[in-house]
Amino acid sequence: MTNTITRRSTHQVKIDHLTIGSEAPVLVQSMTNTDTADAEATAQQVKELSDAGSEMVRITVNSPEAAAKVAEIRSRLDDMGYATPLVGDFHFNGERLLAEFPECGKALAKYRINPGNVGKGVKGDEKFAYMIRTAAENDKAVRIGVNWGSLDQSLAKRMMDANLASATPRPPEEVMKEALIVSALESAEKAVALGLPEDKIILSCKVSAVQDLIQVYRELGSRCRYPLHLGLTEAGMGSKGIVASTAALSVLLQEGIGDTIRISLTPEPGSPRTQEVIVGQEILQTMGLRSFTPMVTACPGCGRTTSTVFQELAQDVQNYLRQKMSVWRSEYPGVESLNVAVMGCVVNGPGESKLADIGISLPGTGETPVAPVYVDGERKVTLKGDNIAAEFLQIVEDYVKTNYCEGGAKRSRTRVIPIQSR
Ligand code: SF4
Repeated sequence: MTNTITRRSTHQVKIDHLTIGSEAPVLVQSMTNTDTADAEATAQQVKELSDAGSEMVRITVNSPEAAAKVAEIRSRLDDMGYATPLVGDFHFNGERLLAEFPECGKALAKYRINPGNVGKGVKGDEKFAYMIRTAAENDKAVRIGVNWGSLDQSLAKRMMDANLASATPRPPEEVMKEALIVSALESAEKAVALGLPEDKIILSCKVSAVQDLIQVYRELGSRCRYPLHLGLTEAGMGSKGIVASTAALSVLLQEGIGDTIRISLTPEPGSPRTQEVIVGQEILQTMGLRSFTPMVTACPGCGRTTSTVFQELAQDVQNYLRQKMSVWRSEYPGVESLNVAVMGCVVNGPGESKLADIGISLPGTGETPVAPVYVDGERKVTLKGDNIAAEFLQIVEDYVKTNYCEGGAKRSRTRVIPIQSR
């Protein structure tokens, strides 16, 4: 049984070395939470997000102090060997900042413009036009990013009034969702009329409720061919933010909707900003759309597991694989599709271990204190004693070096769902 996803977007947008849309892989984005005016801290966080796998990073450009530092952030990253494209997030004063700090507009790879936050009437139109013309002159892409919390109020009023005057008025919330879509599509039309090529435009319409996001993006995806950036805005903290984002994005990605994603998690105190990147990657990888890091299959554990050894081993293996990937990614192409199983007892342990590339089944309560290890479906060795974790990690390392080296049996073997554009 094969699974092919037909992508809705047909336009492709080039951003530096990246391609967005159509058959191109869905990209993972993130956003800094540093003060952009602090060039050192912002460059450092962009580096950390890039190390975690963020393929583009957005920074807010909200003040003259921030705009003045964008070129420095770009050159700091270049000096560190990071080509990660920077996206500038502009709102109320974007045209003024781009005019006063032309180097800022040149250093960015893409501008994000929110049509609801550029101002009203003729003045708002002029500001929008200035930003679009600057992007076109600098040969930059633009994401027209509409947001539920900052929807263009004049457009919303116009559509609500028309709805009230209609013989069959629709529920107000339906009209507001339609207004989001219209705002994005009309802004894209204006941008094209102002001289921005169609292949420089990406759209987004972010809302904070899962069903609303699915409904809005299905409609948007059916009415345009632009690449779409997906994200559940204000997803929240911890498991709630992760689950809500995963639920919404999975449905849309499976329908071929979405070309870049961002997981808008509120970081828990002390937790790293990079968590949003890891969640984004895991959504794409568990759906079979891309591979980033070897996956660990682990059972949840139950009364049969004798201690925390099993949980610790599962965590150690996942951390070890993530940490190794910065080197393995270039030295061992294809290693990102490695599958490792860590199981708590013999009930499902041997079965899952045989299905993985490498699997270990730890002893459960009352079982002989030994841990059989399976490699490519065959029982290879049985570990025992106090050093099981280290010995198992050594087996994983040896397997990677043997199988993903030049001429290795699994080099560059990636298992992803084929994507087509319609
Ligand atoms: S594999 Fe064993 S320890 Fe893990 S959940 Fe199943 S029965 Fe419990």
